[in-house]
Amino acid sequence: MRLNKGDKGELVSQLQKAIGLDPVGVYGPKTVAGVQVFQHLKGLPNTGIADEATLKAAGLLGGGAAEVKEEKKAGLTELPEKLSANFSMKEFVHSDTAKRRGIDNNPGLEHAEAALELFANVVQPIRDHFGTSIFLSSGYRSAALNKAIGGSQTSQHSKGEAVDIDMDGRKGPENEDVFHYIRKNLPFDQLIWEFGDSKRPDWVHVSYKKGGPQRGQILAAKRNSAGKTYYETWKA
Ligand SMILES: [Zn+2]
Repeated sequence: MRLNKGDKGELVSQLQKAIGLDPVGVYGPKTVAGVQVFQHLKGLPNTGIADEATLKAAGLLGGGAAEVKEEKKAGLTELPEKLSANFSMKEFVHSDTAKRRGIDNNPGLEHAEAALELFANVVQPIRDHFGTSIFLSSGYRSAALNKAIGGSQTSQHSKGEAVDIDMDGRKGPENEDVFHYIRKNLPFDQLIWEFGDSKRPDWVHVSYKKGGPQRGQILAAKRNSAGKTYYETWKA
């Protein structure tokens, strides 16, 4: 007995109710992220798939329900080690610049909660589709780190809502393959073709807004003759 993305019905509604979500009866991206948080709180592998252990912990296969009620609104109480099946918190917060300059790049719990949604809806599905390692060149960036690298102070990287993917020189898909896969198949708030040329971006930026709604905005980052970055709507 297990429930997974795409499942529908009464048991899905019961699960959603048990973990503090709206009981809409469809196991969508929000449920995946909600199940991940719940699993983390219960000390279970946070796969986003409601397997037997998860259903038990949610009180749907007998026992455990009373305990769940206390925790369901609390959100995370500690940082999860894993953000999804194939991605760790460590690689999400890693920064050479932060390391070199001794900048604190530890996320808060709210950033981790945002990251769980980002990884459930965007990053892990990319990994699952291509079936190969996906290199994150940048993930979470504290305000101090963002300032040090000259990034935007309102960057979604600082909220735990964005990653940069760079497959240059690595096995697997090219950056443009990743970009187009996201564009055609996944929910996102903002997708950016970062510099490069019309055939190939230097890297891909993608964000997922915690709790939504997602704007589905697609931009291309360019530099003007003075070297200043500007953005325009991406065109095929
Ligand atoms: Zn970025």
